Amino acid sequence: GASIELEHLTKRYPGSAAPAVDNVTLELKAGEVVVFVGPSGCGKSTTLKMINRLIEPSGGRIRIDGEDVTHMDPVRMRREVGYVVQASGLFPHMTVAQNIALVPRMTGWPRARIRERVEEMLDLVGLDPGEFRGRYPGELSGGRRQRVAMARALAADPPVLLMDEPFGAVDPVTRHHLQDELVRLQHRLRKTIVLATDDFDEAIKLGDRIAVLRERSHIAQFDTPEAILTH
Ligand code: ADP
Ligand code: ADP
Repeated sequence: GASIELEHLTKRYPGSAAPAVDNVTLELKAGEVVVFVGPSGCGKSTTLKMINRLIEPSGGRIRIDGEDVTHMDPVRMRREVGYVVQASGLFPHMTVAQNIALVPRMTGWPRARIRERVEEMLDLVGLDPGEFRGRYPGELSGGRRQRVAMARALAADPPVLLMDEPFGAVDPVTRHHLQDELVRLQHRLRKTIVLATDDFDEAIKLGDRIAVLRERSHIAQFDTPEAILTH
């Protein structure tokens, strides 16, 4: 994992009166899971998209392991930051293997190493490589698609993993399985994870620390689940 520092991070979308994210300052330690929990529209996605350089901040600064990455080239950023979104975000016209190989290919890994890595990642998320590498996302259940999305996000071994409502589009039983799977994976991998959700129970279950967000990502509380439950 790597530390992440957000300093006065702000996003104003063109044409909107109020900023979507207003002056957020937060420090995440290397290897911890921080859950952003708050209602729909409070700016969770916007914050995550600024951290992985999908959108440009209007103000403030982002540091990863002390390095200022606020304006880093988005393609380079994909090696540092894995990204998992609701309903998987997998490319439907690519096989499972091609989806997982995406960032390693962009990074210029040799073919043989990529092939090996795809097998390894499928094993890691509990999918049989022989059965799944050639399938298309549309042929898989929602839960399996999210497993593939995790495998893709982790393929290039980024120190940081951003997860935007990763289990929001699956049924409750599958959601619990995937949450347990994430706990198991994190025990081995020790990534710095930022997970956004509107589900308080999920935040309590997964977070080493929880940032409770109000509108414009104003941080109402930032503490351990134990502390948040007793306050
Ligand atoms: P959350 O992830 O917590 O649901 P978002 O970051 O998606 O919140 O949205 C925060 C605010 O920014 C909302 O008011 C939303 O309508 C607005 N917003 C999000 N994306 C855009 C966009 N591309 N252009 C304009 N406004 C946006
Ligand atoms: P969309 O608007 O469809 O989400 P994006 O440009 O945001 O398109 O991303 C395209 C795809 O690439 C998405 O499915 C997303 O999951 C994936 N992606 C985005 N950022 C990263 C990243 N840092 N690492 C790996 N995959 C990413």
